[in-house]
Amino acid sequence: MEEKKKVERKKIEATKEMNRIMADYFYEMDDAAKTGKKKIAWCTSVGPAELLRALGFLVHFPENHGAMLGSTRMATDLIPESNAIGYSPDICSYLTADVGAYIKGITPLSRAYKGIESVPKPDVLVFNTNQCRDVQDWFAWYAQYLNVPLIGVTTHRGVSNVTKAHIQSVAEQMEGLIEPLSEISGKKFDMDEMKHILALSRECSDLWKEVLDTASAVPSPITFFDGTIHMGPAVVLRGTQQAVDYYKILLAELKDRIKNKIAAVEGERFRLYWDGMPVWGRLSAHSNLFAELKANVLASTYCNSWIFTAFDPQDPFNSMARAYIELFIVRSDAFKEKYIKDMLAFFKVDGIIYHDAKTCPNNSNCRYGMPQRLEKETGVPSLVINGDLNDLRLISDEQTKTNIEAFIEQLEENR
Ligand code: SF4
Repeated sequence: MEEKKKVERKKIEATKEMNRIMADYFYEMDDAAKTGKKKIAWCTSVGPAELLRALGFLVHFPENHGAMLGSTRMATDLIPESNAIGYSPDICSYLTADVGAYIKGITPLSRAYKGIESVPKPDVLVFNTNQCRDVQDWFAWYAQYLNVPLIGVTTHRGVSNVTKAHIQSVAEQMEGLIEPLSEISGKKFDMDEMKHILALSRECSDLWKEVLDTASAVPSPITFFDGTIHMGPAVVLRGTQQAVDYYKILLAELKDRIKNKIAAVEGERFRLYWDGMPVWGRLSAHSNLFAELKANVLASTYCNSWIFTAFDPQDPFNSMARAYIELFIVRSDAFKEKYIKDMLAFFKVDGIIYHDAKTCPNNSNCRYGMPQRLEKETGVPSLVINGDLNDLRLISDEQTKTNIEAFIEQLEENR
């Protein structure tokens, strides 16, 4: 995307601290992988990470790695490696980019962190299909390629009301993971440790929600694009004290911005909601494009996906099951529409951008009439942009730019 009129975007000071704790996280795992000091589990991003930590594992998240491949724009060239071994260009481009990178023996971690040569080899692969089937197929490839055990949780999808039966079935599956995981880690399950980790994870989640909710202020102190970067600790470090400490720092900075009416997008004129995956290789370009139009994309279902308000340290397995089923991506369209409606009101939104990500139907909500239904009900106009999370061949930058500019013009005319 052409970036002629560079705009000043407010830098978040806490970023330095986030970079430090993320570096510590990656180096600790690299050290464990090299020395065997600790066992390593790979986990899906909304999988049972808390249980893995309680059993003494360090946890690697391949989706986080997939997003790094996207944001460094390495993904597009790696996807064909997976296509060549039978993984379609139409399936999840996190999967195809990540597997492609493994086959080629490269990783963006080496560029970012001196001395790290590869992703850490797993001792076990643990999935939760609450988000999609692709994660299971993704991990199954590694299980076979590396001869590593693969276990996980199969979750109901398209759920309207979360019932006791849903919770029981997932909670039992999670409890069923204890024995095999404990055998691999060599650590006995300790309920007090589990409760402690879950309490930290809940605190992280509550703070992350507070961070995202600051966007309801006018002007908003944060953008969706900031959120996609700063959600790193909520994804990979939830259940640790570091993540909790970090979000306290970030929250204080954002509250200070609100107090001093400092806008993330100077002259904020339009407030937008983003539905669907980010386009990782275009974060900066999209952030600039909207800022130039005085539009702040300030809230999203994506960043909210790491809010787990149901976590209850006194009832770990049932509450983890509930939290991981209550996720937006697991729910029916009727639930999703009500959720987005509430978000539009809370964040005082003028328009919605739906990203129809070609390789992620699971997180593209515009394919079954939702934009039309929501617009009719709320009067909030929307725009669908076609693209992808990682595969830049599926994006037309010019088309996206033209459509967004026309959409903002329409919002201007409607004022
Ligand atoms: S939800 Fe979408 S992006 Fe995430 S792993 Fe599944 S297919 Fe990939």
